[in-house]
Amino acid sequence: MIHFVGAGSGGADLITVRGARLLGEADCIIYAGSLVNPDVLQYKSEHCAVYDSAGMTMEDVIAVMAENEKAGKTTVRLHTGDPSLYGAIREQMDELDKLGLPYDVTPGVSSFCGAAAALQAEYTLPEVSQSVIITRMAGRTPVPEGEALRKMASHGCTMVLFLSTGLLEDVEKELLAGGTYTKDTPAAIVYKATWPDEKVFRCTVGTLAKTARENHITKTALITIGGFLGTEYERSKLYDPTFTHGYREASR
Ligand code: SAH
Repeated sequence: MIHFVGAGSGGADLITVRGARLLGEADCIIYAGSLVNPDVLQYKSEHCAVYDSAGMTMEDVIAVMAENEKAGKTTVRLHTGDPSLYGAIREQMDELDKLGLPYDVTPGVSSFCGAAAALQAEYTLPEVSQSVIITRMAGRTPVPEGEALRKMASHGCTMVLFLSTGLLEDVEKELLAGGTYTKDTPAAIVYKATWPDEKVFRCTVGTLAKTARENHITKTALITIGGFLGTEYERSKLYDPTFTHGYREASR
């Protein structure tokens, strides 16, 4: 059996209980060494073989999985954060389907959740934003035209940008071209969320590139944007004493 497992966003104790158990049972772990905290490997058994996929192609990865499967061994493919976001797992699953090899997926704490924790923030504040757009700036990997950053930015809701830290001059221009955010809209750069060396830089849309430059942040960071980083919001109705719902009568 092959298990795709989300390692979580950094902190080794942020892997799920199921993920840690699967690591303990694995004969082989293939992990994304460029982003997964190697401390997560503390959950593996002594006999377990470990491969860093950073220097491997997808074909290399599938070959290791197939070889283990033939020998009746268990493989864990350990991905950073949650594998469903920019994880390139679909292409691996399709290859395994072609070979008739069985697999399952265990989710993980994505870095966008880790970043909210680092910011001590809530992405969905009443009367501020009730939607979160997770996207990236087009770089060497293109983004479909309908999802151009300026179009996504036009909604003015909470945004979380992955894989865009090296492109912040263009990010600023695109965010402003959307016509809803201004240079003063709050933003934050979260570097290595939930890792021991996590850093948070609060800034504005107009100072994103400058903030990254001054602090030498070029990768392993998320860019968050929107009024959720500000001070204005409405209380939630769910806990409002004057509001009745299925579990509670209004007390005032
Ligand atoms: N599947 C992962 C994302 C992989 S794409 C997840 O769910 O988090 C890799 C990008 O994710 C990086 O370029 C960076 O933008 C972001 N990233 C991953 N881990 C991060 C962390 N701990 N802190 C900030 N950004 C992170």
